[in-house]
Amino acid sequence: MNGQAVCSECGEPAQQSSPTDWIGAWGTPPGWSHKDGTSLCPVMGGNGYEPCQPEVL
Ligand SMILES: [Zn+2]
Repeated sequence: MNGQAVCSECGEPAQQSSPTDWIGAWGTPPGWSHKDGTSLCPVMGGNGYEPCQPEVL
């Protein structure tokens, strides 16, 4: 393991930083985003679509 995190949906590199496109009304921002600052790809969660969790390689 080298600690590299990727979006578990699209496989793009992920960074431990809140997404820059997150809107406060959506609730607590996730701790992870794609390297370009966008939210991780959405998956269907308990309350509808939510950003997926990163996968640490
Ligand atoms: Zn993604």
